[in-house]
Amino acid sequence: MGEAQVIRDHAFHVVRRSIPAGRVKNEIARLRNASQTTVEELRTTRNKAARAIGDSGANIFDAQIMIASDEEFLESVIQRISKERINAEYAYQETLGDTIDRLEKSDDLYLRQMIHDIRAVSERVLSLMLGVGQDDENGFNRPTILVGRIFSPGQVMAYAKRNVVGFLTEEGGPASHMGLVIRSLGIPAAMGDFSVGEQLTTGTPVIIDGNKGDVIINPDLETRRNYRRIRAQKQSQPLNVLRQARSITPVCVDGRPIKLGANLEIPGPFDDHLIRLGVGVGLYRTEFLYFAKQVFPDEEEQYLIYSRIAEKFHPLPVTLRTFDLGGDKYSDHLGKIREDNPALGWRGIRVALDATELFRSQLRAMLRASASGNIRILMPMVSDASEIIASMKLIEKIKRELRRSKIQFDEDIPIGVMIEVPSAALSADYLAELVDFFSIGTNDLVQYTMAADRSNHRVSKYYNSAHPSVLKLIQMAVLAAHDNGIPVTICGEMAGNKEMAPFFIGLGVDELSMNPTLLPGVADWISRINSIEAKRFASRVMRLTTTEKVSRAFREAYDYIKQQKKGSWIR
Ligand code: PEP
Ligand code: MG
Repeated sequence: MGEAQVIRDHAFHVVRRSIPAGRVKNEIARLRNASQTTVEELRTTRNKAARAIGDSGANIFDAQIMIASDEEFLESVIQRISKERINAEYAYQETLGDTIDRLEKSDDLYLRQMIHDIRAVSERVLSLMLGVGQDDENGFNRPTILVGRIFSPGQVMAYAKRNVVGFLTEEGGPASHMGLVIRSLGIPAAMGDFSVGEQLTTGTPVIIDGNKGDVIINPDLETRRNYRRIRAQKQSQPLNVLRQARSITPVCVDGRPIKLGANLEIPGPFDDHLIRLGVGVGLYRTEFLYFAKQVFPDEEEQYLIYSRIAEKFHPLPVTLRTFDLGGDKYSDHLGKIREDNPALGWRGIRVALDATELFRSQLRAMLRASASGNIRILMPMVSDASEIIASMKLIEKIKRELRRSKIQFDEDIPIGVMIEVPSAALSADYLAELVDFFSIGTNDLVQYTMAADRSNHRVSKYYNSAHPSVLKLIQMAVLAAHDNGIPVTICGEMAGNKEMAPFFIGLGVDELSMNPTLLPGVADWISRINSIEAKRFASRVMRLTTTEKVSRAFREAYDYIKQQKKGSWIR
């Protein structure tokens, strides 16, 4: 429950106002004040960042300070105010537009890269002039529901600290990265399928019922009272699910154990419960370290983070995935590089192999932290064996360096690959010879197989997890893994879907890794499944020809298991 704050792609609605000659001075003063305040704020932020993450990390603010105090630019705005006799914010926005147009056309990459910083600075200056200044670093004054087209994971993480209690977006969905982060933070959200921005203005009271997917605009007193009660009951639920679980024993009726793992984006709230319940980390999305701060943590900082989590979970395994940046998790840093088709662009291992220093420092940090013996390294977005070979070469080189420097690490550290691009699934037999484990990222595998953007609600009807083609690719990967004697995990959202559990168990998947709050329910579910029946069920499903038929089979099996009906759920 909160007040809407509508964030548009063009965040500010600036109107042109003519002003009398006598007010020109006044407008210039408003401009000067706003830019001066911005400079001061940036300096304070810079100093804080330097204390928290060191001088090198704080450098990004230097560029912004320089932009905010650029006299030449301010002079052009002032001339516009005086010559055209217009309000400061309009003159500012017009001059800004000209500057950005010029930079966008420039051949100089450095100049083009400045656009992002210029936008960040100008948003602050404009918000000060327009009096939309409540979103300071202490957050919004009141519980706020952010309304917009889509937000990056980094924006979500930053806003979550600022009294944002809900998200309402036109794009995205549960499998989008925005969706994953919002869920991992336990924030209610409704996404897609409605054009929220047009119906809502900033300040409108809104309730989001994330369980039902309902959005109530301008709720009456009765509804508010009702929802306050519901909220009080639900608020602590995600953590309570784990807190209340006494044990997690995912063993099938016939005694076959299935491993469970947790997907973690942000370390912290779930750790102790997971450890108590004996569940390791099946997927640690390290790119969230970057999103949280918008700077890349250096080797030392990463080493501390990785070794802390490994020691905490020891002897339970901790699977660290190398940075998966790009695609719909564009970082604001990489966002400077515009791509027409980012999901098919510079993402995951492709970024890592080009930005070698970044990759090297991450791998070094992971290897050093592996001395505790329970770390596994996982590589995302691999589409070709050459990427694994190049990564392995780098890993071997780092290992030699560490040996020379007598720094301890796990000599047998398992290296795995995400199977999330169809080409990887199709060549899984060969990839399996190169690595120690597979982790099937179904979120992306569905997106790339079905050619349906995981964040675009307009094509969500094509994003079919139960499509026979997706199942075939999963089966290929599982068979190839087992033929080569390596284990296979499912770590996409499908892993936590009870309807799909019998199929995965039937295929012989070794581990399911999911959002921690789903673990107790899935473990309980597994204990009702007979893995021998599941195997027969999986072979039958593999012969089905349409999504509808597969979904029906999943649903029927689910109903049988749920009702514990006598007889078999395999028909
Ligand atoms: C996936 O693609 O299924 C996956 C687990 O990775 P991510 O959601 O981080 O892309
Ligand atoms: Mg993925």
